[in-house]
Amino acid sequence: MHAEHNPLFKRWKKGDKRVALVYPSSYASGIANIGLQQIYAEVNSIEGFVCERFYRDVFDCTRSVETGTHIKDFDVILFSVQFEEDYFRVARILSMLENTKALRVAGGPCVIENPLPLTPYFDYFYVGEVDYDVERLLEVVISDTEDENILKSETVLELSSSECKVNVRKPKLESHLTEQIVGEGVYGECYLIEVGRGCRRSCSFCVVRQIYSPCRWRDWKTIVEVGRRAKSVCKKVALISPSVTDHPEAKEFMWELVNMGLEVSPSSMRADTIDQEMADLLVACGQKSVTIAPEAGSERMRRVLRKGISEEEIFEAVNCIKGKINNVKMYYMIGLPGESDEDIDAILRLTEKVKKSGFRVSVSVNPLVPKPHTPLQFAPFGGAFESKSGKNALDSIKELKRKTGLLEKGFRKLGIRANVEKPENFAVQTILSRGDAEVGKYLLYGKSRLLRNFRNMLGEVSFDRLPWEFINHGYSSNRIRREYERLLEIALKTVAV
Ligand code: SF4
Repeated sequence: MHAEHNPLFKRWKKGDKRVALVYPSSYASGIANIGLQQIYAEVNSIEGFVCERFYRDVFDCTRSVETGTHIKDFDVILFSVQFEEDYFRVARILSMLENTKALRVAGGPCVIENPLPLTPYFDYFYVGEVDYDVERLLEVVISDTEDENILKSETVLELSSSECKVNVRKPKLESHLTEQIVGEGVYGECYLIEVGRGCRRSCSFCVVRQIYSPCRWRDWKTIVEVGRRAKSVCKKVALISPSVTDHPEAKEFMWELVNMGLEVSPSSMRADTIDQEMADLLVACGQKSVTIAPEAGSERMRRVLRKGISEEEIFEAVNCIKGKINNVKMYYMIGLPGESDEDIDAILRLTEKVKKSGFRVSVSVNPLVPKPHTPLQFAPFGGAFESKSGKNALDSIKELKRKTGLLEKGFRKLGIRANVEKPENFAVQTILSRGDAEVGKYLLYGKSRLLRNFRNMLGEVSFDRLPWEFINHGYSSNRIRREYERLLEIALKTVAV
């Protein structure tokens, strides 16, 4: 870990309650997470509370970054759980703390998606976006009560099998952090500016659109003010939002920040928002590469994913950046319902075409994880339908391995650097993401055993009430079911099953 600038640090004094803020993944991604910075700032602003941070790669999550204090000496332990693959580490850390009095609280995207596999390890769950609400959270858990979306583990279990619902807290984006920690994170050493939350698009695989809806933007003036503050601390800002350039005033504030002399890094953007001006702006921002996420190679599969980007739009974007930015990163998913070898080949052809347009291309390919709350939550992992094709979950993994083999070979032939992920890891993520408390009990035994015991959960999910539907994100469950049926019609219409 590099040295960091931390104006939010608070020294512990006798009588203060210690709060551990645990990010069970790397320091680089944790320090680039604006939500964690907000929680840290809020706890430290409350009289009688002190917050310290824990990361996977700093003392293996057992001692704090600030003072090296052991996690067992804290009164409240707040875990921010962002990725399913971190569940194993979370279970391991918490099983070490079984005999301590610390209250164990979980929040973060995985909790507002489906907290059930984590119920054996936590006392409390915060179901919602916790910013501006940290004081209430601490009051509730310390007084051993419950309140609206601050739920005890046993309540979560009861709700999952009842008809009751919990409304997810989705606050207005109020004031932005002016003071923040600056460390070496995934966007480099920079200030973070959250320009918006949620996404107005409707990709069928995307959990962000569902669990962070409605889409909320920060106003132009606030963004620029935080930029001014950043200028006194560092040379770079990272703009945080699922799709920064969808902000109605994105170009205006990006130019303003560039004109202040700042390097600007948009965390994520859609290819169809790149026109000539945006391409010039990205150069002025200091961007050396552009990410394009067609997600699928063929138009048919992109319709299943409701990605809303045509090949024409991809090449319009590519033509705009030509001669200005030479590196393109492309993201794809495989294992989609109704996917054929032609769709796999289409990934290779599309990437080849971009390379031939004069770019240095790198590629990342992941198997689709059908996520709770999305229309594709019902889909079988790997995209193969047992009843229709006679295939089972193990066949799906084998089939995905065959497809990843085809892609690796194809990309090698094209001289394109590709990171094609292993299907097993994504099968495990699927089990965890759609799992229950029973699945959670196996976290201490590792991935292989989990996969062996629960591989029957990789198939298509029935339309019965789903255990995570007690979490109310404001969508209608029937609408999601109808959307899935429509997507399957597109997916299965043109292939033999
Ligand atoms: S554009 Fe990105 S963030 Fe928005 S719905 Fe699609 S995948 Fe999700």
